Amino acid sequence: MDFIPVNEPLLDGNEKAYLNQCIETGWISSEGPFVREFEDKFAARCGRKHGIAVANGTAALDAAVEALGIGPGDEVILPAFTIISCIAQIVRSGAKPVLVDADPITWNMDVSQIESRITQHTKAIMVVHTYGLPVDMDPVLALARRHNLRVIEDAAEAHGQTYRGKPCGSFGDLSVFSFYPNKHVTTGEGGMILTDDDELAEICRSLRNLCFQPHARFVHERLGWNLRMTNLQAAIGLAQLERLDGFVARKRSMGRLYTELLADIRGIQLPLDATDYADNIYWVFGLVIETSRQLSAAAAMKALAQKRVGTRPFFWPMHEQPVFSRMGLFAKDDHPTASRIARQGFYIPSGLALTPSQAAEVAERVRAVFNA
Ligand SMILES: *Cc1c(COP(=O)(O)O)cnc(C)c1O
Repeated sequence: MDFIPVNEPLLDGNEKAYLNQCIETGWISSEGPFVREFEDKFAARCGRKHGIAVANGTAALDAAVEALGIGPGDEVILPAFTIISCIAQIVRSGAKPVLVDADPITWNMDVSQIESRITQHTKAIMVVHTYGLPVDMDPVLALARRHNLRVIEDAAEAHGQTYRGKPCGSFGDLSVFSFYPNKHVTTGEGGMILTDDDELAEICRSLRNLCFQPHARFVHERLGWNLRMTNLQAAIGLAQLERLDGFVARKRSMGRLYTELLADIRGIQLPLDATDYADNIYWVFGLVIETSRQLSAAAAMKALAQKRVGTRPFFWPMHEQPVFSRMGLFAKDDHPTASRIARQGFYIPSGLALTPSQAAEVAERVRAVFNA
């Protein structure tokens, strides 16, 4: 039985040709020309004015939080069901993270819970488009306008996705992407911040580059990081970006095939194919086992590993993270949907290189586990 990995990227476009150009010209650092070209083309694709390429998606989030001046006394509202990258810089900055639970159907943040979490200290809402469906943005944007809040949009799983026809990555004061190899566009490691705001763009560029100053390079007014993306990474990113529409189509047909082949298994919830604001792009194909089946995600993943199928658990919610418990955070939080889907949810092989025959094989093995 062949092992089917949880993710494999597709690198069979112009990646090699552009990488060769880096080697032949000697431009391998962040000073090379592909970086600006990738920033410009990626920003244009999302209809944004500025793109700032960085070392990874986590770095993009760190810089976004810092660029907005979030710090002690501020509160930031974000989903409980997300990756640690979203919350890390909020906590490090001394600001207070405020969590909302997940929606049980879309697994995105339940936007109806946001308003009750807003206080006079709230500075920003961080939205995270999760697993292939976007957050319902209209209510979020209306709240942000009404309460004068900043929006940070984590679109790390949403390259090529739209919300009511507008690109994901076009909604935040600052919007961020990751180019990790399981994302729809990869650079190996990499990330991007998008904005229309000239001043925020300048701050992000400066934070990315140690806050060197143009006219007094080694004199610093602010602390930054080295978050620079290399020309080698941007070369791969450009080649990937050229194929984004095809990649999205490929993921959608994978999602439809899985949905068809798994639909009749009793007691598992599949991803929603569409909402009234978006069609799923199936960043990953997640399964949530109903609690009535008395089977945990961990047990199902173990059984699938024995059948040589790669899987990954769902996010573990922020209010259950040991690191935050030790800091005394979230002691009174209860986010039952996030807690349930963390225990009952996992995803099956969903990478771009997955072939329809591999997907059919995965579905067969999943059926064997669940119908045993
Ligand atoms: C992948 C991901 C990140 C982190 O990106 P890295 O490039 O791995 O640092 C952040 N947020 C979300 C929602 C992600 O899926």
